[in-house]
Amino acid sequence: MKRRDWNTFLQYLKNHKPPLTLARCSGAHVIEFLKYLDQFGKTKVHNQGCNYFGHPNPPAPCACPLKQAWGSLDALIGRLRAAYEENGGRPESNPFGARAVRIYLREVREGQAKARGIPYEKKKRKRPPVPAAPPAEGGGGDGASGSGAAAVAGERSGSGGGGAGPS
Ligand SMILES: [Zn+2]
Repeated sequence: MKRRDWNTFLQYLKNHKPPLTLARCSGAHVIEFLKYLDQFGKTKVHNQGCNYFGHPNPPAPCACPLKQAWGSLDALIGRLRAAYEENGGRPESNPFGARAVRIYLREVREGQAKARGIPYEKKKRKRPPVPAAPPAEGGGGDGASGSGAAAVAGERSGSGGGGAGPS
């Protein structure tokens, strides 16, 4: 897997116009490579103007482009980064570890999360339920706790239904 990815990248450099060598390869070139890979992607990423923007499972096809999923790109960069050093590249000049690449990946992740309505959050970070804050504690607060209490009251109002099972 890693070797194949590495060869793909070397091939990309070889076909690059103007020609590019590994030694002259920067983070910007790596980003260019990732964008080039988008044409082979299989993940629908909706444009902001699309009706299905933010829908993880749209009911009908649309004209938005297919791209590489963020997770694939992130994993690919990890493999190429390792391959670069296994092939004699120095860690401090590793273009796959460049700051620009990290920023690009983060933008892709956030963009795809918005476009597809998928929150890209770690599942592990389960938030413990927030206990109802006792208003007396701390002493110093004036009216600051009022809005929080109102929000809780609003959420409570929905309970009590729940007879409709899946048929
Ligand atoms: Zn769309």
